[in-house]
Amino acid sequence: MIIDGKAIAQSIRKNVAQRIKENFSAENAPCLACILVGNDKASQIYVNSKKKACEECGIKSLILNVPEDVSKAELVALIEKLNADKNVSGILLQLPLPDHLRAAQNEIINTILPTKDVDCLTDLNLGKLFSGTSQIAPCTATGVMKILKSAGVSLDGKKVCVVGRSLLVGKSVAVLLQNENATVTACHSHTKNLEKEVSQADVVVVAVGKPKMITADFIKPGAVVVDVGINRTDEGLFGDVDFENVKDKCSCITPVPGGVGPLTVACLMENTLTLHMLENKISKTEKFAPKH
Ligand code: NDP
Repeated sequence: MIIDGKAIAQSIRKNVAQRIKENFSAENAPCLACILVGNDKASQIYVNSKKKACEECGIKSLILNVPEDVSKAELVALIEKLNADKNVSGILLQLPLPDHLRAAQNEIINTILPTKDVDCLTDLNLGKLFSGTSQIAPCTATGVMKILKSAGVSLDGKKVCVVGRSLLVGKSVAVLLQNENATVTACHSHTKNLEKEVSQADVVVVAVGKPKMITADFIKPGAVVVDVGINRTDEGLFGDVDFENVKDKCSCITPVPGGVGPLTVACLMENTLTLHMLENKISKTEKFAPKH
């Protein structure tokens, strides 16, 4: 089975639109501020798709294009302005930042007010995620979980291998998988014999950023494969999984494009609504807490 991420994402966006309609007038609708630093083509595409999704859901959007050579102080001043703006429900800093800001990335992210940190990347919100008291989780990690749920994959007691350990994806998804009682192996660039680790898993989640690195040899017959990777090459857009050869060996797989990507955007819409509802004290959102 090839999992249709676009269809799952569409149903999430529809649900968000419905909840916004039920709870808010157009004037009081949530507002997402996206900060885009520089002219990175891929980042521009992502920000445009976020803007489009906002329009579809009835979320107001503010796209803030900042010059490539912005200083750390100027960027922080912009974030602080958005923190203080009562009309802004969520702030997203599109990553990656240009090279000169890379070392300060974490520090800059942590200037976002945790109540407006829509991708759940501040230290406080990640701490809450790890302790099971958070009401949001990073958008891509949430998207992976929604894909697994929607494909009817039971995780309780299953062996799951996550390849990649970034805060944005790998580490966060590993926490959410453990919340569902999966036994998680977290692999990274220092893992010895990656093929052996991956081939023991019932479910494989890959977020590395290396085109087609997970080949059919890595995959246990009948496993579920979620490919988070997005790699733009001269030959086209590829995931981290060798889709053509893996698809006949596994029981279900996400394609690239059309798999996790649309879910990331849909979960961003959901997180923006959640933060807005919390701010307006009308939330009855679930916590990302362990099920045991
Ligand atoms: P990072 O570069 O932050 O992390 C990559 C991870 O892969 C690191 O933990 C690294 O290990 C690990 N890694 C690198 N090489 C190997 C290897 N040979 N074997 C095993 N592990 C390895 O990337 P992100 O997590 O931000 O993104 C990963 C991919 O997902 C990218 O292609 C990105 O474009 C895509 N992405 C897609 C999204 C979507 O919506 N679909 C959203 C976000 C990202 P170590 O920690 O040891 O360095």
